[in-house]
Amino acid sequence: MNINEHFKELKENYLFATVGAKFAAYQKAHPERKVIKLSIGDVTRPLAPVVIEAMHRAVDDMAHRETFKGYGPDQTCYGYDVLLDSIRNSYARKGVSLGADEIFISDGAKSDCGNILDLFSADNTVLVPDPVYPVYLDTNLMAGRRILFADANASNGFLPLPDDGVRADIIYICSPNNPTGAAYNREQLKLWVDYANRMGAVILYDAAYEYFVTDPALARSIFEVEGARTCAIELCSYSKTAGFTGVRCGYTVVPRELVRGGMRLNRMWARRQSTKFNGVSYITQMGAAAVFTEEGERQIAENLGYYRNNARIISECLDGLGIWYTGGKNSPYIWLKCPGGMESWAFFDYLLENANVVGTPGSGFGRNGEGYFRLTAFGTEENTREACRRIAALLQS
Ligand code: PLP
Repeated sequence: MNINEHFKELKENYLFATVGAKFAAYQKAHPERKVIKLSIGDVTRPLAPVVIEAMHRAVDDMAHRETFKGYGPDQTCYGYDVLLDSIRNSYARKGVSLGADEIFISDGAKSDCGNILDLFSADNTVLVPDPVYPVYLDTNLMAGRRILFADANASNGFLPLPDDGVRADIIYICSPNNPTGAAYNREQLKLWVDYANRMGAVILYDAAYEYFVTDPALARSIFEVEGARTCAIELCSYSKTAGFTGVRCGYTVVPRELVRGGMRLNRMWARRQSTKFNGVSYITQMGAAAVFTEEGERQIAENLGYYRNNARIISECLDGLGIWYTGGKNSPYIWLKCPGGMESWAFFDYLLENANVVGTPGSGFGRNGEGYFRLTAFGTEENTREACRRIAALLQS
């Protein structure tokens, strides 16, 4: 029996485990202190009322023989028309026209991020940014692919651009970025699209945070960029857009024009999904379909506005302290330079012990993250304000 030896190349997932262990140890030693976590990547606001109502109606449908649903429609890889139509409408508002057969409903962007790799040979070279959302790295390490890093750093605003000297087959772009919060504009994305088309590469574009973009110069979909339909796949999620982290729903767009090795990736993905996946529950899909209705968009805008306000509170605190950061404006993440030249973990300990605030050390996301630190806007406003007050008091003293 041969097992997949590549699993030995994976690093222990020490980042969030260590953050959690240090937090727990500190809280145990100091039970009277209220430690505030600005490290979480999970949402804290409840689902929008339109979503809840749609899910309740869908539950009732399941109770009657006439409206009961079993497996979803197989012509669309189990996506219901009402959901596909609402996604198409949301793209139309971005000026992007999509066919229903180009949208694949899934249980979230993380699964698709890993699953999409079934379409590509293990001997492809992969280009991931450093720092990176660890899923891009680990899913490829598991398959034994060669990995190259595109350096994201202060000198490029944590937005690396393509280099024709680098040959890559699969390129990961996450914008707005986790962990750095930096987001590409259309001109920058056009450089990546042209590079991918020249190289015959495929871009895996992670748009999980697109709904945080407010600056009209920034792209919300790679398909806003000319030429993307022949080189890109887009991974989307209701998790951060509409608070679906616990409900689980996402969608992946594979354009019909995307052809590599003489094969249409759209058809390959349809084949892969219908073989290894049986769709997202009807109840979940009906809840998701309510998100991009007029009323749904109005309601999620309230939740997004709440998190944006937290991001503004953190940004203003850092502005006041003269601390350099990216993100915070079109993103729920704020990526800051640790003050006084501190290393990421040293700053983590310093903040935990002296301000009772927990963040995420940048070094956990890659070599270029050393000396940086991630704070998130997904907490409550009250905690965010209090954390900022403590951080300001500590760093001003
Ligand atoms: N992509 C990025 C960049 C993320 O940060 C996350 C979650 O934190 C995901 C994908 C996962 O999204 P989902 O909840 O849809 O699996």
